[in-house]
Amino acid sequence: MNNRICVAVRKRPIKEGEDVVETPTPNCIVNEPKIKYDLTPYTERHTFTYDKVFSEKDGNADLYRDCCLPLIETVFSNGNATCFAYGQTGSGKTHTMLGNDREPGLYAISAREIFARAKKLNADVFVSFYEIYGRKIFDLLNHRERLVAREDADKVINICGLSEHPVNTIEDIFDVITAGSTYRAAGQTSANAESSRSHAVLQIEVREANTGQKKGPKTIGRISFIDLAGNERGADTYECDRKTRMEGAEINKSLLALKECIRALGMGKSHVPFRGSILTEVLRDSFTGNSRTTMIATISPAASHCVNTLNTLRYTQRVKDLGGPSGGARSEQVASGAPAKRAPKRSNFQPAAAPKNRPEWVSDFAEDDGEVGNTPTPPPPAQKPKPKKVAKAAKKTEKAEVKVKDPKIATIVKNHIKALEVPDTNGEEDDDEEEEEEELAETTMPREEERQVRKVHAYVVDEITKAEEKLIALHRRHIDSKMTGIKEEIKAIQNFEESDSVDDYVTKVRGLLQKQMDDMQQILSMLSSISGMLKDEEDLSHTLNSSRAPRR
Ligand code: ADP
Ligand code: MG
Repeated sequence: MNNRICVAVRKRPIKEGEDVVETPTPNCIVNEPKIKYDLTPYTERHTFTYDKVFSEKDGNADLYRDCCLPLIETVFSNGNATCFAYGQTGSGKTHTMLGNDREPGLYAISAREIFARAKKLNADVFVSFYEIYGRKIFDLLNHRERLVAREDADKVINICGLSEHPVNTIEDIFDVITAGSTYRAAGQTSANAESSRSHAVLQIEVREANTGQKKGPKTIGRISFIDLAGNERGADTYECDRKTRMEGAEINKSLLALKECIRALGMGKSHVPFRGSILTEVLRDSFTGNSRTTMIATISPAASHCVNTLNTLRYTQRVKDLGGPSGGARSEQVASGAPAKRAPKRSNFQPAAAPKNRPEWVSDFAEDDGEVGNTPTPPPPAQKPKPKKVAKAAKKTEKAEVKVKDPKIATIVKNHIKALEVPDTNGEEDDDEEEEEEELAETTMPREEERQVRKVHAYVVDEITKAEEKLIALHRRHIDSKMTGIKEEIKAIQNFEESDSVDDYVTKVRGLLQKQMDDMQQILSMLSSISGMLKDEEDLSHTLNSSRAPRR
């Protein structure tokens, strides 16, 4: 196990259909049912290797013992620990983090250990809980208040106004988390469908006891749990409305950036590519300094979820393959068969959920002072190095050449040619994405064309998002200056009536109106540039969607 990164897979119990996943840890095997051109069925057997693979029989406490306990060590050695749950909607991410009536999740089990250790140090514990939805951040412990992430003078991204809550007992933390989770679903049309499109971040911070120090109590360490948005492919959203398409593109982008940031941490790279997605920007501290990360990939074993399961396993395999010797994936055919400072804010938040409804395990947990696990499990035996595919350097330096045939779409691609010059993921060609595309290659468009259209689509979505933020800022400024302008115009009239000459009046009013016209012109040109991009986005997603039509 890389000592900074642990990558594990958890198979959920089957709900319906055929179970195609085997879990002989540290391997995970997917028996993908396929059909040859001559219609004979066969099975493609994919084998992946991770640090640990959990079966449907393993509980949250097993995951905690093997994958989270080392994180708690990091918290108490002045570090930043992070635990991600990654997988398609319904595969068990929230179950792993939050638990259910019968068993506690990683939040509570970890909190119990943290309380036990903090008590010995006489330290204080605080929690924050927020949600990243598209590019927006909401405080789940303060009535879902919208928050903004801002970069300070030291280039550290802070979430302004995020509330934090002192917690002392398991009951406290259970109530706070339950209430926050209720907020996560609230205010949204269809709870599960929409909450699966946001990343939920729970942060538990341990601080030295407050003894009235001038600078405030020193942070000992922090752990963040991230229940990620469902990773089902953004491609599936091309047919949806614009909001959904834009969210899908943002989710894809943040998950790609996340993979690269964890890899950078694992490889000890000095450059961490956290910029470009809100998720990686706000979690920046998790990828630098004394940080340790666990990623738990949750998968559903049903044959009908095979494509998503394979995509989840490939993604996590890439996180695990940090360039050096590691697990690796193989497929074969078989016959049919240190924490950033931030401005904390206390709020008068009261848990909305009735504490009376706590499951039984909460009181069991509270009676006992914790220290569930002892030592982390030993690392699994070293795996054979994965043969590296021949470097695709040629591709990296390739001059952007438009391969799209449809003239209308080709023009859009040309207009955003920059998008093709941007390497897929930080200058690194991603073998898995290619494999992933193979998995979904049944489109009417040639692969290279589709790849270009997808790249330009993601780029345009990004540009729209950036433009939206600029437009709003500009529009607000314009309204402010219009208000001031009106006051000045009224004053000009009064002055003219009382004392000013007509020359003064004309010069003054002309200046004022000209400024308003310039401002308006600027907004109008921004509006038309955004309209153009919206139209491009629509055409690109329409093309991507219709190229997939034969599969349905
Ligand atoms: P996600 O958050 O990934 O969308 P959920 O955690 O909400 O998925 O899981 C969907 C459903 O499956 C829930 O009812 C959950 O209780 C159940 N479930 C998921 N994983 C497990 C598991 N390992 N054991 C028991 N039930 C599970
Ligand atoms: Mg969930």
